Formats: sequence, C-alpha cells, structure tokens
Amino acid sequence: MRKQKSLKKLLWPNLIKFMPSKVIIANWKMNLSVKKSLEFVRKIIKSQNELVIAAPFTFLCEMSKHLKKKKIKLAGQNVSQFSEGAYTGDVSAKMLKEEGCTYCLVGHSERRIYFKETDSEINGKIRQLLKYEIKPILCVGENYLQRKRKLTNSVLAKQLAKDLQGIKVSGEILIAYEPIWAISTFQENKNKKAASLEDIISAHQRIKKILQKLFKNTKKIKIIYGGTVTPLNSSQILNLKEVEGVLVGGASLKVPSLNAIIKAI
Ligand code: PEP
Repeated sequence: MRKQKSLKKLLWPNLIKFMPSKVIIANWKMNLSVKKSLEFVRKIIKSQNELVIAAPFTFLCEMSKHLKKKKIKLAGQNVSQFSEGAYTGDVSAKMLKEEGCTYCLVGHSERRIYFKETDSEINGKIRQLLKYEIKPILCVGENYLQRKRKLTNSVLAKQLAKDLQGIKVSGEILIAYEPIWAISTFQENKNKKAASLEDIISAHQRIKKILQKLFKNTKKIKIIYGGTVTPLNSSQILNLKEVEGVLVGGASLKVPSLNAIIKAI
C-alpha cells in the first residue's frame, strides 16, 4: 500500500506533463474596480492550467504587478486595428504589450452587436495583436435566429474566413465558440443555460474542419467554449476532448465560483 502511494507520488508530476493543458479565461467586462481586482487575485487558487483574466484597460497596470507570482496571465478586452495615431479612445496592441498583456479578446459578440464591429476591423485587430506577439482570442458564434434556421455552420465558416483572411498563424490563436443564445447576459438566453455538450462538440468539430481548410497547419490554434460556464457545468465541459479551454463571463466575477471552475479540471 505504501509502495503504491509513493509510486503514485513519483509518477503524478510526469503524468500531469502529458495531460493536455486547458485555458480558463475570465472575462470581467466592465465590472469590479482596481482595488477589488487586487483583492480578487489574492484569493485565486493556483492552477496547473493557464488562467487568464481579461480585465478593463484601467486595471492592467496595477494587476500586472501582482500576477507574476500566481502565474495568472492578463488579457485586454479589445484593441485598436491601428498601430498608432489620432484614434481618440483607442488602445493599441503595443500599449497592451507594455501593460503586460499576453492575450486579448477580439470580436466578442457584445462588440459586434453594440459597437457594430465588422469582420474587416476584427481582421485588422488580429494582425496588430500577432505583430506584438499577443495571443488573440477570437470570439465567433451564431445568434438564436441563425441557429433556428440551421445556419450555425455557415455563420461560423463566414466569420472565420473573414476574420482570419490573409492571417499568417505566427503565434498562438484561440478561437472561442460563443453561441450568442448561450451567453448569460443576452436576452436570447432565456433559460440561462450553456449549450448542450452535443452542441459544443459538434460546433468545435466544425470549427476545426473550417480551420483545416483555411490553414495548412492548425497546431497553434486552440478552440475553447464560452457561454454560461458555471461551477455546475464546467467539469463536464472542460473534460470534453474537443474543448481546449473556457471563456467565462458572469461566473468569473466571484472568487468562489472562479475557484470552483479552476478546480474542475
Ligand atoms: C461572455 O460574455 O464571453 C460569456 C461567456 O459570458 P457568460 O459566461 O456570462 O455567459
């Protein structure tokens, strides 16, 4: 019995090395405050997997000083499609890099819907991020009506083709499948539910096929899921082999629920 235990102790670190590591991205949107964000980070448990916080721009500088020990990475929530100049209110990829961002969200449905962001702008943003070696997290996904009309696959194909047009996959890119009807804050999600595991698997498989058509090599592209991921469903979702991570909105705003999601893998 003792021998078995010590063998397990010996093998475990090596087994962990071979387990595919997953990424958990907290999208705080326009919530919390700098002070609250620092208290929050102090209470977050350590993880073998990559934990990323997409925080408002004004938090980035302070947060980056406190994240190194915990190995938590920072993400911007948006970036300019331009490199510099007279673009009042915009923040460039170079500026995000300066503030310590490793990742940045692009094309979130809230930006596509409320700010009328176009695919060509999103394409420009991805180019800027790759230039500064920041990993883009490109959000794609259909709305409720498109899903009802069985247009999911064609919406995904169009978004991916346009948003990634002419892009050279020089660094890691993450594609977040975020069906709009499953995002907790949208009216479309009347039941406040995530997509079913079957829906997630089939969309992820479809995205993989589309990417294989667009690029010779897709090794650097990860496909993650977002839409009402909570402590109740995170384990099931994260343990799907097709899912390389999750993007979490509402449930990432409370320490206990984010910690529970981190523990789910
Ligand atoms: C999101 O808005 O990216 C998101 C996934 O939100 P929620 O987890 O609240 O559905």
